[in-house]
Amino acid sequence: LVSRENHRERSIVRVGGVPIGPGTMTLIAGPCAVETPEQTLQAAQMAKAAGATLLRGGAFKPRTSPYAFQGLGEAGLRILADVRAETGMPIVTEVVNAADVELVASYADMLQIGTRNAQNFALLQAAGEAGKPVMLKRGMSGTIEEWLMSAEYVAQRGNLDIVLCERGIRTFEKATRNTLDISAVPVAQRLSHLPVIIDPSHSGGSRDLVLPLTRAGIAVGADGVIIDVHPHPETALCDGPQALVDGDLRELAKLVRDLPPLV
Ligand code: PEP
Repeated sequence: LVSRENHRERSIVRVGGVPIGPGTMTLIAGPCAVETPEQTLQAAQMAKAAGATLLRGGAFKPRTSPYAFQGLGEAGLRILADVRAETGMPIVTEVVNAADVELVASYADMLQIGTRNAQNFALLQAAGEAGKPVMLKRGMSGTIEEWLMSAEYVAQRGNLDIVLCERGIRTFEKATRNTLDISAVPVAQRLSHLPVIIDPSHSGGSRDLVLPLTRAGIAVGADGVIIDVHPHPETALCDGPQALVDGDLRELAKLVRDLPPLV
């Protein structure tokens, strides 16, 4: 269903009216985690000023450590909905558990499935039935074929509004959190008709890598980019060191504004 064999044209997925796909370089940005109404609104305003048309923000956080901040849950979803009303930005937010899909889908414009759940087949199937577009991150140890098979689980449930997100894979390299597999973008676009975006924030794990990796994504033809932004990264409850701040955002805005016409 997601293969290009029977579907030669590359697909455009619309999220609350915002297109992601060929001819676009959609900027999705916002806080890694929703912490407070003020922090989420400020991050959304920063993202919007940089050219973002979709707001990201985690209310359910899949943390490696069970002692780390796990997200605000439904209270976080309510904050996102308020910020959407205030800014007009549709929301992309993660769901980590099949039992929460209906709840998250009642607030979200797009459901995010994270790298740690890339092969949680019950969750993929539930997301496929939720009636909302799905952003599917690549498993950090998953092959491109496994990633596409995961997309197939969503598609099988009648939902072809799927966006693939390359977010870095585990390699022997320790200087970055994960290694952004830049070749995965054209390979996935060759094999599948689905849009492919990159996450330079979670792959590198470091603010200084976000703009260079974004440039790399644009160069290989990514259909979009999803980026962490925080008004006060030094106090962030999740992944502060990778969040962009005002100066970087001005550069990001310039990068997105100066893009040549995309075909
Ligand atoms: C995220 O985008 O909030 C996230 C946790 O990303 P990943 O699943 O890629 O680690």
